[in-house]
Amino acid sequence: MVAIFLQGKELTFNEFNFHKDLLKGIKIAGFKEPSPIQETVIPIIKNGEDLVGQAHTGTGKTAAFGLPLMNKIINNEIERVLIITPTRELATQVSDELYHLGRFAGIRTITVYGGVGYGRQIALINKGVQVVVATPGRLKDLYKKGKIDGFNPEVVVLDEADEMLDMGFLEEIKEIFEYIPQNRQTLLFSATIPEPIKALADTILTNPQFISVVGKDESTTNNVIEQTYCVINESQRDEAIVKLLETEKIKKCLVFCRMKREVDRLSEHLQALGFNARGIHGDLEQSERDEVIKAYRRNQIQIMVATDVASRGLDVKKVTHVFNYHIPFDPQSYVHRIGRTGRAGKSGKAITLVTTEEFKELKRIQNEVGAEMKLTTIAIDANASEESCGDFDSLEKRVRNTEITECSIEFIDSMEDMDYHEFVERVVSLLLKDSRTTSALIGYDKESVNIMLGEYLDEQKVARQNARQRKRR
Ligand code: AMP
Repeated sequence: MVAIFLQGKELTFNEFNFHKDLLKGIKIAGFKEPSPIQETVIPIIKNGEDLVGQAHTGTGKTAAFGLPLMNKIINNEIERVLIITPTRELATQVSDELYHLGRFAGIRTITVYGGVGYGRQIALINKGVQVVVATPGRLKDLYKKGKIDGFNPEVVVLDEADEMLDMGFLEEIKEIFEYIPQNRQTLLFSATIPEPIKALADTILTNPQFISVVGKDESTTNNVIEQTYCVINESQRDEAIVKLLETEKIKKCLVFCRMKREVDRLSEHLQALGFNARGIHGDLEQSERDEVIKAYRRNQIQIMVATDVASRGLDVKKVTHVFNYHIPFDPQSYVHRIGRTGRAGKSGKAITLVTTEEFKELKRIQNEVGAEMKLTTIAIDANASEESCGDFDSLEKRVRNTEITECSIEFIDSMEDMDYHEFVERVVSLLLKDSRTTSALIGYDKESVNIMLGEYLDEQKVARQNARQRKRR
């Protein structure tokens, strides 16, 4: 593979000799100049070469492969293109983008995914639609059942290949390629290039060019995204996220949780507090997921609470913030999550909540993706008056989660001269006051985090020494 790092030349779309109808689509889409990945990969694709492109969504990669391929269709150099994406949402997004860019040239596009009837998809493919954007499961089904025998694309694009790997689609991808003619151009795009993706590229691509949108000194994560983290106690998650939602200047944001049930619980909690929030995860019906994403795109929803799967490759403009309510399971997910903001050259903020136990995971992610994350704390409104109420939710949670101790029973007995209601009211007032004064700031300060960091580095050192010893033996 040949590695090409981006130069940042100044080009316009006119220099690619695209058909005038395509240039019209580009103009109406408001693209003034090609993005760095477009500058670099368009000539390679036009040239008919295979390509591995390391780029995440938000870099303009859809148009980077879509424009030269549609141009080839318009010029009758090829008839059919197949684009494989990991999720239905991404398939729809890619096909929407291509439709908008290619509509003046009359390019016919279809999305093919599971959960809906086969008939229309089969009919359109067999009728000769030019661009098929498909998810692996349904596509493999159609090939295997012999429903699209005549569909022999001359170009195949694998989009977000590392996501397909994470979602367990690798075998399906390999099987799909058994049905596609060898004599083809193949393009593979991926935000990260782990070993299995390299191995896949070696089997399905021929002498590919290797393009990276990350320059030599840059990290895999995007510079325009300001990344911070806050070290909290487990019981402070809700309070922390609520404070962040109240104090950050948010146009639109994503809040990531690890579990589907956490998405449901948190979105309901936020709704109950009056936030314009909705949850999205893989257990929702496809129509519900579509509805939530549509409303989010149209700014009818401000806060989308999501699992990783539900938001893969999501390209929604003006997402100013990504909050990691829970730290993701792996570094790739971190890159994908925060890549939902800071899109199309806009800046964005990514704020990650971690407990002291999760601190090490955060460091691991930070090391692996080379991200610069700054420590932050979250201020609770310090100007509230003495009489104000404190935080009901966090108190409720603390009260419900507290076990009844023998001392408390003894204490209540000793207060039996006081009216029961008066007693309860006084205790609650005391607790609420406490919760105000004890938590003017959420999050551990630099000094405490430095101690955690020291422990982490010591552990790493010991692990390295042990590994060396094992090697010597
Ligand atoms: P993608 O990386 O393909 O998900 O694209 C991210 C966003 O950037 C999409 O909304 C595109 O419409 C937009 N975009 C792609 N290319 C350009 C360009 N050259 N100029 C401005 N916006 C672009």
